[in-house]
Parts: sequence; structure tokens; C-alpha cells
Amino acid sequence: MSMIDDVTFIGNDKDCTHISQSFRDQKQFESFIRRNQLIKIIEGATENFVKKYRESQKPELALGPLFVPLRLEYSEFIKNDAIELLHLAVEEPLQFFDAAKYCIYGLVRERIKLAASTEGCGALKVIDIDQIHLQVRFTGLPLQKDLNFAPFKNNWLPGLSWTTGIISAISEPQFAILQSIWYCSTGCNRNKINTDSINAPICYTCGRYMNEYAKLRITEKYHLLRILPAYSLENPRVTDKIFRSLTIHVREHVHDCELRLGKSYLITGYYDYTHTGQIFQAWSVMTH
Ligand SMILES: [Zn+2]
Repeated sequence: MSMIDDVTFIGNDKDCTHISQSFRDQKQFESFIRRNQLIKIIEGATENFVKKYRESQKPELALGPLFVPLRLEYSEFIKNDAIELLHLAVEEPLQFFDAAKYCIYGLVRERIKLAASTEGCGALKVIDIDQIHLQVRFTGLPLQKDLNFAPFKNNWLPGLSWTTGIISAISEPQFAILQSIWYCSTGCNRNKINTDSINAPICYTCGRYMNEYAKLRITEKYHLLRILPAYSLENPRVTDKIFRSLTIHVREHVHDCELRLGKSYLITGYYDYTHTGQIFQAWSVMTH
């Protein structure tokens, strides 16, 4: 269920505070993207999705992915007087991401409803939030000390931060599942979308395991990097200091540059404490 639907729900006071906060975040994000034209990107992505479906008339395309590239620049928030939203992005990047996703989902859903009623895309009535894939890239974070993530200095920031280092190891390309589509083969006519698992879900109607449309599985390429601070290589024999390399998760859309061993990079992202493995999630990688 989307947060937007949740707004009509009246729970206890605590729930209401939480709901109104996330609703406010979504509204702030919407006002920001309307002011700086990012709305056009979202509309364009939705148009493409509808067009592809209309031209093919393949019902399974109604369950396909909708990619929304979201290029965010620090200075744009200041220019557009969106300081509160900027604080949210920097201090609570995951909460910011969720607000952006729910907001975009609401906008896409409206547009698709309109297309269904006016453009003869009748079967394309609803879209699941798990079909929306935000590709966030965030650049221009100021190189201030308080925003520097420096694990070797025991400076572990929880929010959005920057770090620099030399790539000391790089994985082969890895593939993560973004979306898989499932159907019930017992005639229930039910579909389900999973985002990060290949475990068969159970059909709500008949309680049996569902089957996957294997050809419709959507994956995303990424690399894992290990980086070391530059001066750990320049002065490797500092006493009383052990340099620990940091693992970075780099999705395709966060960089244009080549990733090479021994080269220095400036990375913006956040340290993900919520998952096991505890890696730094990159929202931008640039040569440095
Ligand atoms: Zn079933």
C-alpha cells in the first residue's frame, strides 16, 4: 500500500504524526521537482512506459519496470529554496528516498489513470509501486569536514556524506534483481511483483506457490569496490594506525567515469547500517 493511501487512515496520535511527516516530505519533494523541471523527466518516463505498452499491447508489459533517472544537484536545492528538503536528503537519505519514491509513484499513477481513460490503455489501469525504480544520482555535496565520511578517523556519519580514496579492489560486474513478475497457474489470474528476491511468493487467493515469468526478470548491474585513503599508500608505515578499506556499492547510473584500480575517486553516498555487510551506498562516483 502506498503512503498516499495511508493518509486517509486515522490511527493513534503517534501514527498520525508519522504519516503527516512523510506526507509533508512527499509534498516538499513534489514542489521541488515542479520548480526545477525534474517533473519533465518523470512525465517522460511515464509517457515511454505507456507508449511501449500501447504499441505492443502485451498485457505483461503493464507489469514491467518504470525507470526514473533522478539527477540531484546540491546547489539546486538552495536555488529553489528547498532547504528543509535538503536537510532531509543529507541527514536522512533513506527517508528522503522513500518520500521521493512515494511522491513519484503518486504522479505516475495519476498519469497512467489518465492514459487508461483517454488513450485506450484500458488494461493499464494500475501500477504497483514496486514497478517504479528510482535511479538517484546526487552531486555537489560540499567538501566540508562535517560531511566527510572517514572511517579511518572513526568519523562514521549516518547521513549523506563524501569520501575519497584509491580503488584497491574491484569486483567483476554483479547483477541484482530489481524486479521479478509472478503469476498463479491455477487460474486465479493473480500477479505479483517481487523486488529483490527470487523466492516464489504465495498466491493470496489459493495459497499456492506462484510461478515466475522468467523472461521478464529485470536485473541491474553494479560493482563492489574497496577503497583506501590516498595517504595510506603514500605513508604506509604510520605507527599506531591501521587503515581499513571501505566497501562501496556502485550502481551503474551513479557514475560516468571508468572505475580503475589505483585511481582516486570522490564518492558521495551514505553508510548503510541497516543491511548486513555494512557497505557505503554510492549516490555518485567521480574521478578525483
Ligand atoms: Zn492462486
